Amino acid sequence: MALDPDLGMAQRKDPREAQTSRLYLKCVIIKIVEIGPGGSVPWIFNLSKYKAMKKIILLFSISLSVVFSSCYRDLNITDTSRDPQQRPDFENKREISCQCLFDLYPVENLSDREREALYFMREEEKLAMDVYQYLYDKWKHHVFENISNSERQHMSLILCLIDKYGLEDPSEDLAQGEFRDKNLTEFYDLLISEGTKSLINAFIVGATIEDVDIFDLMHYQANGIDNWDVNAVFQELNKGSRNHMRAFTKNLKNLGAGYESQYISSGLLEEIIESERETGDIICSDT
Ligand code: MN
Ligand code: MN
Repeated sequence: MALDPDLGMAQRKDPREAQTSRLYLKCVIIKIVEIGPGGSVPWIFNLSKYKAMKKIILLFSISLSVVFSSCYRDLNITDTSRDPQQRPDFENKREISCQCLFDLYPVENLSDREREALYFMREEEKLAMDVYQYLYDKWKHHVFENISNSERQHMSLILCLIDKYGLEDPSEDLAQGEFRDKNLTEFYDLLISEGTKSLINAFIVGATIEDVDIFDLMHYQANGIDNWDVNAVFQELNKGSRNHMRAFTKNLKNLGAGYESQYISSGLLEEIIESERETGDIICSDT
């Protein structure tokens, strides 16, 4: 479907295929290869170097103990939640998705571009969450509360990747409306002042955020994002944004107003609005 470009995905084999039941074994094998002497694969080919069988057995048993303990650690993801206000059902869904990101996808080399994309999208999702929270407080319209919760979940998905790749969280300890990126701070102020004017303006602000979000995600996906886990999260975020766009434009329509795209093409916007709300989980699904 044109709405979901799947950029760069077709050329590569999905690592999630038929691996759920063999996950632990796979993890063990990967760890053995990872920690073997002489780099990633060579230990298998360098066996002739080890003249005494004893030495091999000793090495193997040390390897196995490291492997089992590290796999055990990998499969027990600690709670990285940093928001005490999260609801239990949301928290549960977040943990499942996070577990899938750790378990079903390999740790690939993270390019500078991918790291930058994670930092930026973590903050852009925060921008959406903070603006909708503000607009909910102002207008008490349930759509802002629902979508703000969805954005919190999007932020958490990126945080899972930030933790998986051992990066610093750019949003740590930042209050509502605070961002590391100065452009986002300015954008937030502008959106808040616009969204305060009327409920119609508030829905237009919502559609504008989703417009930017879809545009940025598609741009990243088309330019230098090739890790499977990053791609899956960005697809999930993009799907969420399309649903949010449907919700905001529907509310505008109910008030006799509309929205004209400012970032994505008008053709894509039309395609999104005229199609059904998308369901299903991308990150943990097998297809
Ligand atoms: Mn989002
Ligand atoms: Mn959104």
